[in-house]
Amino acid sequence: MSGKLYLVATPIGNLEDITLRALKILKEVDLIAAEDTRNTLKLLNHFEIKKPLISNHRHNEEQKEEVLINKLKDGQNIAIVSDAGTPGISDPGEVIVKKAIEENIEVIPVPGACAAINALIVSGLNTAEFTFYGFLPLNKKLRKEKLEEIKNETKTSIIYEAPHKIKDTLKDLKEIVDERKIVLARELTKIHEEFIRGSIEKIIEKSENLKGEMILLIEGTEKKEKENVLNNLSLEEHYNFYEKQGIDKKEIIKKIAKDRGVSKNEIYQYFIK
Ligand code: SAM
Repeated sequence: MSGKLYLVATPIGNLEDITLRALKILKEVDLIAAEDTRNTLKLLNHFEIKKPLISNHRHNEEQKEEVLINKLKDGQNIAIVSDAGTPGISDPGEVIVKKAIEENIEVIPVPGACAAINALIVSGLNTAEFTFYGFLPLNKKLRKEKLEEIKNETKTSIIYEAPHKIKDTLKDLKEIVDERKIVLARELTKIHEEFIRGSIEKIIEKSENLKGEMILLIEGTEKKEKENVLNNLSLEEHYNFYEKQGIDKKEIIKKIAKDRGVSKNEIYQYFIK
């Protein structure tokens, strides 16, 4: 019988945030696949857990997949952990989970810390609906497209950012997204935990020389505003906006008709011509 694949969340700073179940699973599995074995070793040593470790980072995830799947098929139970937080969330995990499901291997989540969710719940922004963007693309064009998407997003947007890039990202947000409530959540669960809330200008002012791990949360735009923005585009641009989100033709036509308050047929006829 195949073993089980556990995705185990680990703390994002404060070691007390590890769960009892996470410790139990880490003690019980045959092998731990870690994003950085040195980091995970420190965590395991702290909790006096001795377990074989194998590296499974972003750059070798595809190669490691086969090794891990074979071990699971041999009946070994494996835990996937990342350096911090929930595996698979801007961290390795997704590739092996997809493969395990294809191979009918049981995949089990072991919940715990996730920086995005914890920043969101104390942000003071809407929590009912949100969009997680992870890290913004480095490519200039793709980055601009993502920022445009955030500008038109009605839900709370969440971005992960590296400390040395925060200045540039805030500058880009000011240029493209502009007037919006922003929250910068820093060093969650650590000694210097801090939340800076306010306009983009205020965040830029206060984030000078800030260090540590950071997340940006951006208030969603009013729906009306979004519709106005879209309705001011040409029909082709309006179409492209939805196409970039991977929406299919039929659905795009439906959405454009809804945004513009016209019939689907009217939009359909336009594109046929
Ligand atoms: N898998 C992790 C999770 O569940 O949140 C995220 C890993 S991602 C590689 C690292 C990014 O998460 C950081 O650049 C930062 O944006 C955010 N992050 C992680 N820990 C954090 C913390 N303690 N405080 C603020 N942001 C944090």
